[in-house]
Parts: sequence; structure tokens; C-alpha cells
Amino acid sequence: MAENASNAGPEPGSRVTIGITFGNSNSSIAYTTDSKAEVIADEAGDRQIPTVLSYNDGDEYYGGQAKAFLVRQPKITIAYFRDFLGQDFKSIDPTHCHAAAHPEDTSGTVSFSVKDKEEESSTLSVSEVSTRFMRRLVSAASDYLGKKVTSAVITVPTSYTEKQREALIKAANDAGLEILQLIADPVAAILAYDARPEADISDKIVVVADLGGTRSDVTVVASRGGMYTILATAHDFDFAGVHLDNALMEHFAKEFMKKHNTDPRSNPKSLAKLRLEAEATKKALSLGSNAQFSVESLADGYDFSVSINRIRYEMVGRKVFDGFNRLVEGAVKKAGLDVLDVDEVVMCGGTSHTPRIANNLRGIFPETTTIQAPATSTTAINPSELQARGAALQASLIQEYEAADIEQSTHPAVTTVKHIANAIGVVTGENGDVFLPIMPAETAVPARRTVQIPTPAEGGDVLVRVVEGGTHIKVTKPEPKPAKEASDDKEDDEDDSDFDSDEEEEEEKREKIWKIGGELAEAAIRGVKKGGKVEVTINVAADLGVTVTAREVGAKGGVRGQI
Ligand code: ATP
Repeated sequence: MAENASNAGPEPGSRVTIGITFGNSNSSIAYTTDSKAEVIADEAGDRQIPTVLSYNDGDEYYGGQAKAFLVRQPKITIAYFRDFLGQDFKSIDPTHCHAAAHPEDTSGTVSFSVKDKEEESSTLSVSEVSTRFMRRLVSAASDYLGKKVTSAVITVPTSYTEKQREALIKAANDAGLEILQLIADPVAAILAYDARPEADISDKIVVVADLGGTRSDVTVVASRGGMYTILATAHDFDFAGVHLDNALMEHFAKEFMKKHNTDPRSNPKSLAKLRLEAEATKKALSLGSNAQFSVESLADGYDFSVSINRIRYEMVGRKVFDGFNRLVEGAVKKAGLDVLDVDEVVMCGGTSHTPRIANNLRGIFPETTTIQAPATSTTAINPSELQARGAALQASLIQEYEAADIEQSTHPAVTTVKHIANAIGVVTGENGDVFLPIMPAETAVPARRTVQIPTPAEGGDVLVRVVEGGTHIKVTKPEPKPAKEASDDKEDDEDDSDFDSDEEEEEEKREKIWKIGGELAEAAIRGVKKGGKVEVTINVAADLGVTVTAREVGAKGGVRGQI
């Protein structure tokens, strides 16, 4: 899940580290001070720095300034290039570069031609473009911190191939940056939450919905005592932030056409203006229930200003919103789980600011699931900052180690460990038919968990049965309502209260039920004191060998057995 990479970098003691997210749409840089990660603003004050470079009269612009050039001079502006790193020309999808510098085929690799010097044009490989952009990020961070940044942890999508990882590391190294580690985007997001002092780091299933500009990635993670195991991933390029922009663009273009009989999408400059303002309107609608779309000289010299409310926007973007729901539900299914198994949904990426998406997920998951998003939780961390923060925290944790040690300890051979397939627990309940989980499925081993189990109040001999457990979903259908008589129906038409109860049709009830599986061990604890407590410890070794210890709390001895 995590991969190390480095070249001969600085001595551990002299490192200045940051965390970086390098997205197709935006990048962020963060640093850690007193165990708290903070995202750094660039010179323009942006914390989400558009991943864009632009060249004008030999000058290089990046971030928000470069993005503004997409309107006036799209061909000198390089955007949406991150996913091309480490890919052959024939395997890339250049759709989003349509209104920017076009990717070119240079002996099968991806490059861009821009006039980066006053007189001359250059053909820049995507690796060189990435290096130049990374240099700007490092320089912004160095200026902010007042010291030269030397090293970083960068987050990458879970779908990144080995070749893409290597290409990213090379691009960063060429920018003079030592890469301590690449960590998976979703893991960085969870780390940012788990690093909070009030964090609940108990065993939990977390779904990370990373909804960005050009792609959405959903990951189901088993978080077990600080170890993270990816159970399933889903990647999607059809439902992301730009698709909401597109829906709004279509809406505003039609409104404009009603008035002026000309389509602002038919010329590139108008199209670029439409796109930028649609995106700004979309962001405004995440905060307020109304927003103004306003562009000077949108097309044919006509200014255009019109307002839109959130309800309208949610209708306009409905297909895309539905797509996010399906994507998240699909990932949970792919992990072999049910929504009832999910303890937390962590929403990250810029699009996760959208209230409708968070509210829709609120509706899909049971009340017991926390939905970490600004619209559904007052304690949510800014979704646009999560991953950079997680990367900065990880960087601060490992910066004191020699590069070779980091490489060794984060090598896949070390980080790829075994997991238990089924939960392990004990049988309790008056009738001996209740499963009490002690160690959940997908726990990475070696692992150890201890619980106190209920014992008879009067004490005596206690039999501890250690078993494997699984879950199933019990569905209870609502009781069918008695059929009404024809005469009643007539009255119903005028009767409001009856109308209400008809509307509130009871939903079926879904519950997660444990079922007792194969027995692993039995232990008898003799003569437990009145009111005494029995403690059971499950220890699973790296080779999946299980040791069970059962003892009376405070008493000498106990029973220990190996399976
Ligand atoms: P990708 O790699 O998928 O292109 P990214 O990780 O580079 O994305 P992010 O910053 O996570 O980029 O997401 C960018 C998207 O988030 C854009 O579509 C942007 O319009 C959208 N976005 C940013 N802020 C908000 C907001 N407040 N409300 C709604 N959407 C937002």
C-alpha cells in the first residue's frame, strides 16, 4: 500500500519535509508543526493550487494565474497532465486537455509544445512539465516556511501502476525533492482524521470517497488498531467535479440562448469563460442556497448575469449525483460488505464539499455510520485539505530515519501482511447463542485483542467457547396493512391525517446479525468468584497461529491454549 523511494537525499537531521497531493486538477502542500498539519497557501493565497503551468513571453506562470490563461491563451497553458505521467501516449485520455495545450505523441511518450522562451518553443515531456510544476510547489513551501524544503511524502491514487510511481518519483527528484514515501490517497485521508487527539481509532470499516475534478476514487478500508487494509477500490472518470461543471454549463448556455440566440459553447473563448464561471457558481452553491452566474461579454459582446438556487442546481446535476451514489454502493458491495458494516465514510477531494452528495450518502448508510463531510458533520476536516495533511503527518513521522531504513520498512514485502478472514469471538448469552466479536475480520496479523466477557452474577464455573463468526443481513418486511373498505377510501380523499399515514409507508428493517461459525477452542475457568470477571485474550501470530488465554480478572493462573 505504501511504497518508498528515494535517491541520495539529505541527512535525516537536516531534512525539511512537507506533504504533497499532486492532483489532475489541484495540488496542495502541507507541513507539520507540533504534531498538527497545516496546508500552506501559495503566493496567490490559494491552498488548492490548480495543477496548471502557462508560458507567456518566456515567463512561467503556475496555479491560479496559469488557470486564468485558459480563457485568453489556452494553447500556451498545460493542464490536466498528472494522470499522463508514466503512461504511453496510446493509453491516455486527453479529453480534459481539449481547451488547453494538447498532448503530443513523441516516440510513444506524452509531451506538450509551448513557447517557454521569448523566441523559441520547446517540446516538454510530461515528466519535465511535472518537474517544473513540482519546483513551483517546493518554492512556494520554502518561501512560506523560510527554509528550503528538501523532502516530501506524496499521495497517489490506489490505481497508480509501478511505472507511474517511478515516473512521479523521478519527476520530483529532478525538481530537487527527496521522496520519502508514496502513500495511497485514501490512507492519507484516514491518517489526517486518525491523527486528531479526539480520534476514534478503534477497529472500524471506513469508506473513503475521494471525489475530485476529473476522477472519483472510492476505497473501502479495514482500519484495525492503526493498520489499514484496502478491501476494495472503485475508480470512475464519468462522475466527477467537471461533470457537474458540464451540467451547469449546459444549463447556463441554454438560458443564454433563450435571450440572445447564440450558443456560447460554439467559440472557444466563450466556452472557457462559461466553464470558469460555472465552476465558481458550483462552489458558491456548496456554501449558500443561491448563487449568481455572471460573465462580462460571454458571447457576441453580450454580458450575462443570472441567478440559480441550490434546488435547481441539484436537479440540473441529478444524473451526476446519482452516479456518485452508485459508485459508493458498488465499492461497498465489491468489498463483500453491506452498508450496515460501514462505520465511517470519509469524504475528501474538492467535490466532497457539495452538500447534496454528502446528504445522499447520509441517506444510503445507517444512522450509526458517521459521514465525515462539511454538510453532515460539524467536526469534518476540509475535504480539500485532508490528503495533504495526512501526507505531511506521515512525513513528520518518518523524517528522522535514514532513507535506506524507510525503504526497507515500507517495502511491499514488509507491508503486505496476512489478515484473518473471519472474525474471532466468544459465545455468550443465556442460551449460548450470541456471538461477541473480539477481533474483527480483515485484522492484519500479528494482532492481539482482549475483552471482558459477561459471567453469571453468582459466579461458579465459566465455559469460554472461542469461535469464528460471520455476519448476515436480516431483512424484516413491514406488516401488510389491512385492506380498506371502499367507503373509507372516499373519506380518505378529504382526510389529511389519513393521507399522512399513507405517505409514511413503513420501510423494511435491515439489521446486521452475527452468526456463530466454527469452534476454535474451549476453556473452562473454575470457581469464578461472585461478581468476578473473566478476561479473554486472542493473539494471532504472523503465521495466523491463534493463542487464546482466558483468566479470572485479579485471580492467579488461567487457561492458555494454542490452536
Ligand atoms: P482530479 O485528480 O480528480 O482531477 P484533484 O484531486 O486534482 O482532482 P480536487 O481539488 O480534489 O482535485 O477537486 C477538484 C474539484 O473539486 C473541481 O471540480 C472543483 O470545482 C471541485 N471543488 C472545489 N471546491 C469545491 C466546492 N467548494 N464545492 C464544490 N466543488 C468544489
